[in-house]
Amino acid sequence: MVQRPEVKPETWAVMAGRGADSAGAPLNVPPVPASNFQLGSGRAYSRDDATPTWEAFEELLGGLEGGEAVAFASGMGAAAAVFDLLPVGAKVVLGDDCYQAVPGLAAAGEERGRWSVERVQIEDTARWIELAADADLVWLESPSNPLLRVADLPAICAAPRSADALVVIDSTFATPLVQRPLELGADLVMHSATKYLGGHSDLLLGAVVSSTPERAYQLRERRALAGATPGALEAFLAVRGMRTLPLRLQRATASATDLAERLAQHSAVEVVRYPGFGAVVSFDVQGGAAPADAVCGSVRIIRHATSLGGVESTMERRAAIPGQAHLPPGLLRLSVGCEHPDDLWRDLQQALTP
Ligand SMILES: *Cc1c(COP(=O)(O)O)cnc(C)c1O
Repeated sequence: MVQRPEVKPETWAVMAGRGADSAGAPLNVPPVPASNFQLGSGRAYSRDDATPTWEAFEELLGGLEGGEAVAFASGMGAAAAVFDLLPVGAKVVLGDDCYQAVPGLAAAGEERGRWSVERVQIEDTARWIELAADADLVWLESPSNPLLRVADLPAICAAPRSADALVVIDSTFATPLVQRPLELGADLVMHSATKYLGGHSDLLLGAVVSSTPERAYQLRERRALAGATPGALEAFLAVRGMRTLPLRLQRATASATDLAERLAQHSAVEVVRYPGFGAVVSFDVQGGAAPADAVCGSVRIIRHATSLGGVESTMERRAAIPGQAHLPPGLLRLSVGCEHPDDLWRDLQQALTP
């Protein structure tokens, strides 16, 4: 287990995962593009034994979350490894608003008779607690995507459950700087490091952080058997990105708060959905799909693109995505980056005023 020493997360983000503390050693663990290693050290083959670069990322993230991190090739690689831990016939409880590939993964397993899935409204705490009692997997994303609803994590993570049950929080939107679900009693925390941890829209990477070494071992075993291993360059870039995570998030959150307030005053905006933390703001444009598409087509600084968590602001109309037609048609999800908020506001203003 990575025990973060008595330093603040901001300091840990800078100091952790640096490798050997010895004369002449590089200050950062370099990307090590090795499939195999000379025998005798205990490290033989990367898929089984990891590489120093993945381990740097795992040390850094594990210390921030307060558990043992296992890196995967992507967020979905990490999610699939968790689902693979389930016994046949398992009961899965899943939020009604979450990253679309996770319900896709759950449905694919249900169709094959591997498990059954029940969806729960994010804010229905009583229902979460009721279903957790005999669930094998409780999978919850908070804040949710893209409606940005917030679950009562302290209550749900502490819900009574059987010894083998897993409560898993997809904490991608919040990052370990905003919430640490393991401290609340969750068993696992999942991250798409593709988003805020990497922070520069230039990599795919995922991780699961476990509250116990035993489950981390099982997840590493899944990684070795199923092969969803991280790339050397991706892990290196993620560590580099995480050095500035606290700074990026501080800036982006301040701008998101500011923009959410300004958007709420704008006559072309119907609803603003902002939980009061984090750097994603969803808002509904008056008039639905066509005016919202026009806004996406008119922004110049903000990029019309999917995904989130980069230094650059991005925005998209989520109902336009296949399988997402249930969402409000005019809902735009804005991932606020690190540009100056005045410039972002001017960009939104000109785009919202045809
Ligand atoms: C992007 C994302 C995922 C999937 O991660 P990938 O790295 O794209 O595989 C899972 N959950 C959330 C909340 C995400 O934003």
